[in-house]
Amino acid sequence: MDSMSELPRIHQLDSEVANQIAAGEVIERPASIVKELVENSIDASATRIDIDIEQSGMSLIRVADNGQGIHQDDLILALSPHATSKLNVVSDLNQIVSMGFRGEALPSIASVSRFLLTSKQDDAEQAWCVDNALQTKPAAREQGTTVEVEDIFHTTPARRKFLKSERTEFLHIHAILKAIALGHFSIGFKFYHEQEKVFHYVASHNSPERRISDVLGNAFLKQSVAINHERDGMVLRGWLGLPENTRSHNDRQYFFINGRLIKDKHINHAIKLAYKDQIPAGRFACYVLYLQIDPARVDVNVHPAKSEVRFEDTRNVHDFVYAALTASFNSQQTLSFAEIDKQQNNKTLVKEDVEKYSYKKGGELQTNTYADNQKNYILHDDYVITSLNDKPLLINIPASREYFTIETMQSEYTDNGIKARNIGISLTYDLKNKEIDLVENQKELIKQYGFLFELISPNKIAIKAVPTCLPYANILSLVDTLFDALQKQVSASELIILLAKHINDAGNIINDEELNDLLNKIQVINNDSHAWRYLDGAALAGLIK
Ligand code: ADP
Ligand code: MG
Repeated sequence: MDSMSELPRIHQLDSEVANQIAAGEVIERPASIVKELVENSIDASATRIDIDIEQSGMSLIRVADNGQGIHQDDLILALSPHATSKLNVVSDLNQIVSMGFRGEALPSIASVSRFLLTSKQDDAEQAWCVDNALQTKPAAREQGTTVEVEDIFHTTPARRKFLKSERTEFLHIHAILKAIALGHFSIGFKFYHEQEKVFHYVASHNSPERRISDVLGNAFLKQSVAINHERDGMVLRGWLGLPENTRSHNDRQYFFINGRLIKDKHINHAIKLAYKDQIPAGRFACYVLYLQIDPARVDVNVHPAKSEVRFEDTRNVHDFVYAALTASFNSQQTLSFAEIDKQQNNKTLVKEDVEKYSYKKGGELQTNTYADNQKNYILHDDYVITSLNDKPLLINIPASREYFTIETMQSEYTDNGIKARNIGISLTYDLKNKEIDLVENQKELIKQYGFLFELISPNKIAIKAVPTCLPYANILSLVDTLFDALQKQVSASELIILLAKHINDAGNIINDEELNDLLNKIQVINNDSHAWRYLDGAALAGLIK
């Protein structure tokens, strides 16, 4: 082999390594991939972005948009390091308004995953896709782009080991998507985990409040003051939580600069100063604030993930933010807003009761609404306080979920068998000796419980379907439970109880819709006093005396 033909091989290796190093910088975890992909969609002027993940992003992240798409000839370029359509001349660096600009994300992501990008521009005859082997093929889709990222970090197992639990990764993705959604009201977002809806946020052009309440709940809005302040070419808008609207974490502190979520110590300082000493120690204010400033006056190219900034005139920005917040706190409108809120809700009363109750639950009282027209207070991660027929009601989320899942499973089981949903990903499971017998001889029974397996080798199955009513189950451990119980030959009702526990595999996180659904079910039971006693006795939910 002559030296000329060796050259490209060396180059390829180099760029592979370089990509993986860059990947380490940009891609800490599944959530960073989600962020990069969604930001690309935003840059492509998408008005709809659908995000699908499996196993908290570890096995699949799919981001599909209706943006302008990529030209067929540019597909391979998009996967090349430092190829970007967003930065043509160096002076552009002063005008960074698009979300991403380094041309590093796609090649980095592709270097640590099984990767497929499919895209179609409006006037193209058809869609094309490119994979990480840089093979292009014709494909089918409407205008826009879909990026599918499977099995991340399969090339770098060491990094995989550092990732936290699946639930933590899911929470990171959820948090990032919420933040992005708060930064882009006019884009509709759909987010699915394991094919189950986590949220749908409709595009809300005319009513920013809609998005705020979708993401943060109506209570946040009601306990906030609106800000609209302008000076020196800077505009600050948003919602500032009243001093009594605090949390035990700083997870509701959103500050956007030109659409980008930013953490900045000077800004933080200005906000803290504006709240003066009204926030008790250990508590955190809540706010969603949007600063608009001439891009030339702020440098966002400080941090690889672009979450830090440098201002041309820090002092000026600091003072502006402080002045804007102070003015909003003092405005007349603030007071009347709060007054109305007080009249409409008897929340002080409920709060006191909750405080009495919450003493041993280890958690602090947090004011947080889930259902739109109901006041709910979370006092411990597992519990929600709400009201039913004007009486305060305490709901244990995991226990209630489990209870209703058992109900569903029992009735489906006696009906036609537990309903199954196909899982979109390929998950395999290694069988132990006795399990092989089970799979072969108990097909019907397994189906009755809502599972479908396919034997793909003498001791390996592909999991094809699992019970529909267990959307948050960890599938592998669910199958473990099934085999374990079948071997022990437990009764059907016992087995259902064991399976139903997996409804809480993803933890106690609950979205508005699911909570409403839960409340409706409890309401039905509540109307039937006999069932209610049963429910109450089972300590799933209880009226606070
Ligand atoms: P950057 O976003 O920094 O330019 P990326 O690696 O994230 O770098 O993307 C490379 C290029 O691929 C982008 O500049 C853009 O031209 C194109 N691209 C990536 N994602 C999309 C998308 N969803 N829609 C349209 N074009 C995209
Ligand atoms: Mg990008």
